[in-house]
Amino acid sequence: MIAWLQDVLERLAAWWRGDLRVFHAEGDTLPPEIPHKRLIHMIEDGVSWSVGFTCPCGCGDVIELLLLRAVEPHWSLSVDRFGRPTLHPSVWKKTGCKSHFWLRSGRIVWAEPRPGRT
Ligand SMILES: [Zn+2]
Repeated sequence: MIAWLQDVLERLAAWWRGDLRVFHAEGDTLPPEIPHKRLIHMIEDGVSWSVGFTCPCGCGDVIELLLLRAVEPHWSLSVDRFGRPTLHPSVWKKTGCKSHFWLRSGRIVWAEPRPGRT
C-alpha cells in the first residue's frame, strides 16, 4: 500500500518537473517530429541502436545519439521503472547552442558553466 502510494507520488512529481520519458520505436530513422519531453529509443531487428530527443535548451535541434558499442562515440541508455531515461556519458553539442548536460532519471542536469550564458 505504501509502495503503491510512493509510486503514484513519484509519477506525479515526474510529471510536475517535466521529466523526459522514453518511447520505443521500431525502425532505422527517427520520426521527423519529436515531441518535447520525449526521448525516442530506436530499435531495429531487436537491436537498440539510437536515441533522439529535442535539445533541452529550447533551440529546437534534434539530438541523436548512437547506442551501438561498435561505434565511437556511443552512449548507454538505462530506463527506470517509471520510464525515465538515464544516458551515459554526458551530452555535449559541438555545434549550434553547444549545450552540455547530463540526462539522469529523465532530468536534465546542466554542466557548468553553460556556454554563452555566463
Ligand atoms: Zn540547444
